[in-house]
Amino acid sequence: QPHGRVFNFSAGPAVLPVDVLERAQADLINWQGSGMSIMEMSHRGKEFESVIKKAEADLRTLLNIPSNYKVLFLQGGASTQFSMIPLNLAKAGETVDYVITGAWSKKAAEEAKKYCNVNIAAKGDNKSLPPASAWKLSPDSRYVHYCDNETIGGVEYKATPEVGDRVLVSDMSSNFISKPIDVSKYGIIYAGAQKNVGPSGVTIVIIREDLIGHARPEAPTMLDYKIHVENDSMYNTPPCWSIYICGLVFEKLLKLGGLEAMQKLNEEKAAVLYDAIAASNGFYNSPVDPAVRSLMNVPFTIPSQPDLEKVFIKEAEKAGMLQLKGHRSVGGMRASIYNAMPIEGVQQLASFMKEFAAKHAK
Ligand code: PLP
Repeated sequence: QPHGRVFNFSAGPAVLPVDVLERAQADLINWQGSGMSIMEMSHRGKEFESVIKKAEADLRTLLNIPSNYKVLFLQGGASTQFSMIPLNLAKAGETVDYVITGAWSKKAAEEAKKYCNVNIAAKGDNKSLPPASAWKLSPDSRYVHYCDNETIGGVEYKATPEVGDRVLVSDMSSNFISKPIDVSKYGIIYAGAQKNVGPSGVTIVIIREDLIGHARPEAPTMLDYKIHVENDSMYNTPPCWSIYICGLVFEKLLKLGGLEAMQKLNEEKAAVLYDAIAASNGFYNSPVDPAVRSLMNVPFTIPSQPDLEKVFIKEAEKAGMLQLKGHRSVGGMRASIYNAMPIEGVQQLASFMKEFAAKHAK
């Protein structure tokens, strides 16, 4: 690959498109003839203002974000949203609904328990997903939180869960901008950038206007959505570099044909791997129900010879395919194939899987 780069199947921080990195490399020292790196500029100057404004405008176009939604570029990772959401949307003692489908939504629910009364509306088993029709929502909940794609389990909701006029809050950290979504069905969508968008350090929040301005008085200033909205994501020094790279990625995706095109490509890429698993006559196994298999994170095992998994990961590494080890909590392998993973990467992995199975199958 160009620049001696490998295929990196990391779940995050993830790969960035090489042309974005090349452009960033030039801008790193002297951004568009300004004589300064984008990291050295005043975040209140006109240059950076143009960068953040364009990033927001392009994201609005990509996701077709309605005008009654604000876009924020925040810090603290998606994990900070786990507390920011209850602190802004519910008072102490009020009830909120959480759907637990894996490690990340569980963490979100645990955090919310510090601030309000959490009703666990449904639980998944890491293999399937409880459909929205099976969620036991409490009658008076302030919002319903779920995770659209569980990065560790590799389970993904294929359509927006239907919750009537309740406030739906979605953690889309690992499948943000991988497919079109109807933003108007959500109260809040949030995503750490470091999987499907850009570098770590920035978290994107899309929030409906009527949900802004209700933070508890004791909420830290930095955890009040209103403060960030009023200050155009610049209440304090923003993560300029990360926002700049996100902007380059948004621009690239628009040029590639937007999110319909990304979804098509992501479906093609995921199919290459799931087909390779299916064609292996049981040598490889995907633990996930085909109806909810993630297009982004593909966990798989070698069920009859688990000792071979280490060998697989090592040999794949030698062949230029890195970070295929499954999450430490589940083992096995996991191929994360976010937007920036080229189809050649998954094709190479699928060929490697075939050869490895031919060599080791009993
Ligand atoms: N939510 C999901 C679905 C994730 O995959 C992750 C990180 O892997 C997080 C939340 C936490 O994100 P951050 O590290 O930005 O706090």
